Amino acid sequence: MYDLAVIGLGGVGSQVAFHAARRGAHVVGFDPFGPPHDRGSSHGRTRLIRLAYFEHPGYVPLLRRAYELWHDLSHRVESPLLYQVGLIYAGLPQSEILKGVARSAREYDVPIERLSPHDAVQRFPGLVVPEEANVLFEPTGGYLRVEECVEAGLHGAQLLGAELRTYEPVESWSRDGQGYVIRTAQDTYRATRVVLAGGAWAGQLLPSLASKLQVIRKTLHWFDTRDPRYLESNGFPAFMAEWEGKQYYGFPADQATGLKAAEHSGGEKVANPDQLDRDERPEDAASTRAFLKSWLPGVSDRQTEFSACMYTMSPDGHFYVDHLPEEPGVVFAAGLSGHGFKMASVLGEILTGLALDGFSPLPIDFLRLAR
Ligand SMILES: Cc1cc2nc3c(=O)[nH]c(=O)nc-3n(C[C@H](O)[C@H](O)[C@H](O)COP(=O)(O)OP(=O)(O)OC[C@H]3O[C@@H](n4cnc5c(N)ncnc54)[C@H](O)[C@@H]3O)c2cc1C
Repeated sequence: MYDLAVIGLGGVGSQVAFHAARRGAHVVGFDPFGPPHDRGSSHGRTRLIRLAYFEHPGYVPLLRRAYELWHDLSHRVESPLLYQVGLIYAGLPQSEILKGVARSAREYDVPIERLSPHDAVQRFPGLVVPEEANVLFEPTGGYLRVEECVEAGLHGAQLLGAELRTYEPVESWSRDGQGYVIRTAQDTYRATRVVLAGGAWAGQLLPSLASKLQVIRKTLHWFDTRDPRYLESNGFPAFMAEWEGKQYYGFPADQATGLKAAEHSGGEKVANPDQLDRDERPEDAASTRAFLKSWLPGVSDRQTEFSACMYTMSPDGHFYVDHLPEEPGVVFAAGLSGHGFKMASVLGEILTGLALDGFSPLPIDFLRLAR
């Protein structure tokens, strides 16, 4: 009998396995693929991390802990996972991003610099900012190395005794008198508690939640840039912008891969995550190219790499993190709505607490199912 079965070993599940094993729990984890992999939502080299959270100020205390835990994991693996290169937010003053960042910064005293378009362009050469735009700069912002984070969590968990069954999808889970029975094609396992972290497959693993979740297809694009002004090594930061009704984000360039950028808004519904269209379509990069052309005109529009990925949206864009109402021994994270990776570390700790102790000391009521 295991103390904890972790179903899904991607962004969140890898960190649950690590935290639970660190607490001495006897852990077994399952995944249909060999994470880190590019079949779900945790691939593509980088993920933004930021503290002045425009989506909801309630995430800020969770993020403070997430930063600590990523630093802690970096020390364990003796390799940096988190790069605090700073992050520019740009848009009209009334845009969702600008208003939300200012609110979280004010409520939680997050250091933010307000830059005029002229100052922003002076400070970050290569950037073009329309006169009517506002610019905020968050020095604590930056990015995580996504595959390395998953790898570090899984490796850490294994070193602490977790048993990870990769290439072994869970076919069903159910409860009997002694706990939970988890069935795969290969075997049957027993555990006292279960954590479900199925990402885009959460609706399949948690049918009672399926109607609340919508998977959407998202694309990532890398562009060639020989312009040294956009290089991280020359101080160019990560960025988010809201412009003409769309939200964009991107990362500083490096010599090897160029500059990665994408549109955060939009995306096409995906009926079955196993059938995601991973081929590039001519229209995929169109809006991101147009954005780069006006805001970062030194970036070439020659694409060097492409990847398709999935967001799993909840109706209000906020995560679900809770016990399953009818199954108090089962906890889950679902509907991370395209912004969950930065919090995978703290979600690992929170879900471990919910599963093993029945509660988390962190303020997660705004993420409960019955919010
Ligand atoms: C293009 C893109 C850009 C993003 N940018 C950012 C960003 O900049 N910052 C940020 O914070 N977030 C970002 N996100 C969101 C973030 O990456 C996701 O919220 C996060 O990675 C989701 O983690 P997860 O563990 O829920 O899903 P995943 O990492 O996909 O893990 C789910 C796992 O469940 C497994 N699974 C499926 N079925 C079964 C089964 N039957 N049995 C066992 N296991 C199963 C899957 O194989 C998978 O490994 C982005 C997402 C995308 C797609």
